[in-house]
Amino acid sequence: MSFDTLGLSPILLSALKKSGYTEPTSVQSASIPQALEGHDLIVSAQTGSGKTAAFMLPSLNRIANMPANKGAGVQVLVLTPTRELAQQVAEATKTYGQGIQDLRIATVVGGMPYGAQIKMLSRRVDVLVATPGRLIDHLNAKRVNLSQVHTLILDEADRMLDMGFIEDIESIVAKTPANRQTLMFSATFEGSVARLAADMLNEPKRIDI
Ligand code: AMP
Repeated sequence: MSFDTLGLSPILLSALKKSGYTEPTSVQSASIPQALEGHDLIVSAQTGSGKTAAFMLPSLNRIANMPANKGAGVQVLVLTPTRELAQQVAEATKTYGQGIQDLRIATVVGGMPYGAQIKMLSRRVDVLVATPGRLIDHLNAKRVNLSQVHTLILDEADRMLDMGFIEDIESIVAKTPANRQTLMFSATFEGSVARLAADMLNEPKRIDI
């Protein structure tokens, strides 16, 4: 199988080619077409499976197809459990989005100084990658507006819940539009993760790799 048949914009296909990606991984070929159709997804996938591209490519595809929407505020919000994962996701987003003109990606994570984050948030942000606690701080200070988010991604949802982020996640999600698309990735889908999914996803398709 090749990336060409998944429905992605030529801008993204050319970035993938430059990155040396020739074939989608199984989580990518299962998730990308469904996400491009606009479905909410529950995906069980491990680190190393290529899950970052599985959620980021369809998210970037929307931005690539809607240049006129630039300037409207955060369009894609990714929540991750840790600073390291957020930084990896932001790096990958830069790579996959390299062909999108003036794409602006911001990372907002705990354990890092506020100054640089405040500066980034004072300018246009298209893709925001955040850990929940620090994002709440910026939201409380009214430095971030989530009213234009069209795609919300919960990466490693089980780890975020294990780390006690449930209330932060709930209040962040409440600030995003109800008609957003939500993509939830998790190694497991038991108990509290299933409850979170039932609360936050709309008729999700389930993908088990
Ligand atoms: P992830 O599971 O998203 O952390 O990705 C694991 C690693 O696989 C990363 O180093 C990616 O750059 C790489 N990767 C993801 N998708 C592909 C692909 N389709 N072809 C080759 N490498 C990939």
